[in-house]
Amino acid sequence: MRSDPYFELYGGVFAPETLVAPLEELEAAWLDARDNPEFLGEFDRLLRTYAGRPTPITFCQRLTEQLDVHVWLKREDLLHTGAHKINNTIGQGLLAKRMGKERLIAETGAGQHGVATATAAALLGLECRIYMGAVDAQRQRPNLERMKLLGAEVEIVEAGTATLKDAISEAMRAWTADPVSTHYLLGSVLGPHPFPNIVADFQSVIGREARAQVIETLGGLPHVAAACVGGGSNAIGLFRGFLGDPGVKLVGVEAGGRGLAAGEHAARFATGSPGVLHGCCTYVLQDEDGQIQPTHSVSAGLDYAAVGPEHAMLRESGRARYVHETDQSALAAFRTLARTEGIICALESAHAVGWVIRNAESLAGQSVLINLSGRGDKDLDHAIGQLGRVLSAETKEF
Ligand SMILES: *Cc1c(COP(=O)(O)O)cnc(C)c1O
Repeated sequence: MRSDPYFELYGGVFAPETLVAPLEELEAAWLDARDNPEFLGEFDRLLRTYAGRPTPITFCQRLTEQLDVHVWLKREDLLHTGAHKINNTIGQGLLAKRMGKERLIAETGAGQHGVATATAAALLGLECRIYMGAVDAQRQRPNLERMKLLGAEVEIVEAGTATLKDAISEAMRAWTADPVSTHYLLGSVLGPHPFPNIVADFQSVIGREARAQVIETLGGLPHVAAACVGGGSNAIGLFRGFLGDPGVKLVGVEAGGRGLAAGEHAARFATGSPGVLHGCCTYVLQDEDGQIQPTHSVSAGLDYAAVGPEHAMLRESGRARYVHETDQSALAAFRTLARTEGIICALESAHAVGWVIRNAESLAGQSVLINLSGRGDKDLDHAIGQLGRVLSAETKEF
């Protein structure tokens, strides 16, 4: 049995020959598992009894009064380990066990996906090795310590810029070396087929739950569903719940960083172009020669040069719209949400909140469902250091 590796023009399997067989094995296992009641039952059980699903939706009373936009939050920040990533790591961890694998390997940037993978490995009794760039390991000590405490081996990557992109390359190489006993647990809707589809499947629980919850509480659908877009897994998870509802506008918010000059942002749809990175064809930030450009964002989770291929398709078809918010807007929203609702969100999620705040006038009277992908504890030191410096007097504050 095979499935379509393409999202219209995007996606595909741009992988070295040594990975073709393991990718086909993974595809077959996934196609079998996704319809298997026993597998789905176990996934559902762990999401409920271990990860903390269903997550609630929260109506933001005070923010709504201030903006005149009806703001609802899907609370992925309340999950175990503090973000949506655990949905995917439990799902792929179960899939790896079903395939008889003994070890999970994964890449990590800021360490969030590494921690979520190490957590799933501990839960399921699998060995775990995480690849992390040396620069990131320096910046994200607490997550490095968490992974070790959870029993993972952390491999520090010195190659290239010693950040996420290099950690992914290294993890892929390691998988090539031992595909029989190892599963590569990719962290977002990226990479060669079938990864973008597998991750989207496991994250689509977000949109499924959210759609039922808003219908129950609002008595109808929201006008807009918005989410931040790094690789794009939390956004795809939300969007998939509403793809069949043409009345619901889908908005993905990328990292606008310090502005749209090369190297200052990660807004792939603003200045990127189609290219290939880490196994799939998608929008990539690259120079004229196809060399990957450096990226910047105040939030580590949005700081990557490529975006999931399904997003490229949704943008081209016009079904979803993609915008970008600056570091400054995200930091302002981070503080606003804390003060008006008592919720300290991840800086990634704050980009989506920032977009709603800045566009309150054109959204007036509408209901907007924001996927709050994670909590902000991990960002506290960094955000507070930046807040004083970056927030200028003209920043709109509520
Ligand atoms: C990793 C992360 C993201 C970005 O990843 P996506 O695949 O785009 O969802 C967003 N929010 C949080 C809290 C994260 O940890």
